[in-house]
Order: sequence, then structure tokens, then C-alpha cells
Amino acid sequence: MTAFASFKKEISSPRNIFITTHVKPDADALGSSLGLANYLIKKGHKVTVVTPTDYPYFLTWMKGNDDVIDFSVQKNHPKVKKALKEADIVFCLDFSVLSRVNELGEMIRESDTFIVNIDHHQEPEDFADYRLWSTEAAATCELVYEMIVKLGDKKLIDKEIAECLYAGIMTDTGGFKHPNTTSNVHHVVADLIKIGADNTKVANLIYDSNSVNRLKFIGFAISHRLVVREDLHLAYFVISKKDLQKYHHKTGDSEGLVNYALSLDGVKMAALFSEREDGVKISFRSTADVAVNKFAAAYWNGGGHKNAAGGRSHLSLKATIERFEDLVEEKEEVLFGTKVLEENLG
Ligand code: 5GP
Ligand code: MN
Repeated sequence: MTAFASFKKEISSPRNIFITTHVKPDADALGSSLGLANYLIKKGHKVTVVTPTDYPYFLTWMKGNDDVIDFSVQKNHPKVKKALKEADIVFCLDFSVLSRVNELGEMIRESDTFIVNIDHHQEPEDFADYRLWSTEAAATCELVYEMIVKLGDKKLIDKEIAECLYAGIMTDTGGFKHPNTTSNVHHVVADLIKIGADNTKVANLIYDSNSVNRLKFIGFAISHRLVVREDLHLAYFVISKKDLQKYHHKTGDSEGLVNYALSLDGVKMAALFSEREDGVKISFRSTADVAVNKFAAAYWNGGGHKNAAGGRSHLSLKATIERFEDLVEEKEEVLFGTKVLEENLG
């Protein structure tokens, strides 16, 4: 029996299903989780969606949002542990290494349920019984759509499911701008719109739902916290805990900020350093030929995609920036020059 056939058999009768995704879920993480959940509920399964942390307010319109359980809230622990214990199948969406779901990762590793991993990030860890994984896919939502079609259930994709999936594809392609925007992406979203996804509504809900605080925070960051190193083709933001407090920063308020640094003429790599309770959160973005996921994996306990990656530093904010500049200077030729990054970095 092929891996897909055994997976198909596994979900052919009503099951207890546990779905989770990475910390600080973005539209692809939450959209793939809720798109899949809504589909599985229609198939008669009992579904629990658990996120390791909270997520941006501009994603809360998705169908099923009210039933999502946030594992970072202590009082939810018994409920999550019970759901995981009772689960027949665990779906891990939009991540490929179990460390991306914090403590949930080890709980999943130790559980003896059937684990399905659907993802499009590089270098997956081998923890799943069935893996639907492709770095060619622009978004996990694209893979979930294809999986439902392959299971012969395209007719079950309704407007709400289509809008969850559309959201993830739209954001992971940067609004259909990034190099991952393949013709397949356009075919899939064309189908989703045909099914009923209101593409303008989804774009408005995600991109045009700023609070005044958020807009002022972005203005402040661009005016006062942007460092440009033209000599290194580099631009980055440094945001302190105090800055976040001053602008009443909420989850999601920094989303997209790093792209302003990358939009500068001549910049090949952009970063955002944001001081949090548990260290410095880092976002990297790059132009087509620079592989920031390798840089994130080699030096910043992270990873991601070639042109969009993230990581974490446990040094102080100041020491993190010093290390970052030193590393870029030291590896400049490798990062931006003619040498092949994969072979030389690290
Ligand atoms: P963002 O900068 O938007 O937080 O993340 C950009 C991309 O990098 C996303 O695809 C995200 O999943 C990935 N990413 C962010 N942080 C990490 C990390 O710590 N580890 C890994 N493996 N990927 C990350
Ligand atoms: Mn994704």
C-alpha cells in the first residue's frame, strides 16, 4: 500500500483528530489548520485545533476561530493533553521541526498516534507517519487544497474553507508577488474564487485592518529604528521591549515591517530584531539569490524559506546586533557574492 493509500484509509472513518501549527501562527498556519478542520468536520470527524501561542487579531475572522485552543494559556493544558491523548490522528501543519511548537512538540513525539505532516519548509525532521511535503508549494494551504482534491472531496470545499485556504496562499506569496507565485498557485486560487472565496474581502481583512497604534508603531520604526548599511547591502530594524510597550504592541503588529527594509534600493538582506520576554525574535527577508534560511539555521536557531526565514537570539539586543553585523561582514562574500551559500556558510 502506498503512503497516501494508508493515510486515506486512516481517515476513511470518523476519527478523533488533533490539528496543530507553529508558534505565532500566520495566515498560512491558521488558514491551513482551520481550512482542514472545517473539511474534516464535514467528513464526520471530531476535530480539535490547538495553537502553541496566540495569533494576530486580523486572522480571527476565519470559521472555527472561536474553538481554537491556545496552549500558551495555562488553564488550557488539561484540555489539550486530553485531546492529544484521545486523538487517533495528529496533523502538524506549516512546520517541519517539532521545536516549532514549543512543549507541544515533545508531547506529539511521545504520542503513539498516526502523525501527518503537511508543510513546505526546508529540511524536515522525520517525525511523521505520513508526510505531504513540498518546498515547491508556496503555502501549506496550497498543499491542503491539493490533498482534499486528491482525496476526491473537492465538492466539500465551501466558501468558508476556500477563504481560509485563500488567506494562506495570498500571504505566503506576499500578495502574489514573491518568486513562489507559480502558475499552480494561480490555478488553485482561481478554483478557490470560483468556489466562492471573496478575495477582496480576505485581502481587506488581513491587510487593511490596522489599528492607529500599529500604524504609528510602523511610522516610528521606519523613522527611528531603521539601520541602513549600504556597504553591506543590508537594512534592519531594532525594536526594544520599551518600544513595544510604548505603542501597545499586539501580536501581528510587526507583521510586514521587515519588508520595508527589503524594499530599499540596493538592499539584498533585511532583518527585524524584536526584543521579547524570552530573547530576541528575528525575522529575515532577502532578494531572490540570497538564502536567509541557511543563515538563520547556521547562526540563529532558526530556519524557514530561502527568502523569508526567522530565528531567535538569547543574547541581549545590543549583543545580538553586534554579532549580526560581525557575521554579515565576515560572510559578506558568501551571502551576497559569487560563492555558493549552501557550501560555504557555517
Ligand atoms: P517570520 O519572519 O514571518 O516570523 O517568519 C518567516 C518564515 O520563517 C516563516 O515561514 C516561518 O515559518 C519561518 N520561521 C520563523 N522563525 C523560525 C524559526 O525559529 N525556526 C524555523 N525553522 N523557521 C522559522
Ligand atoms: Mn507557510
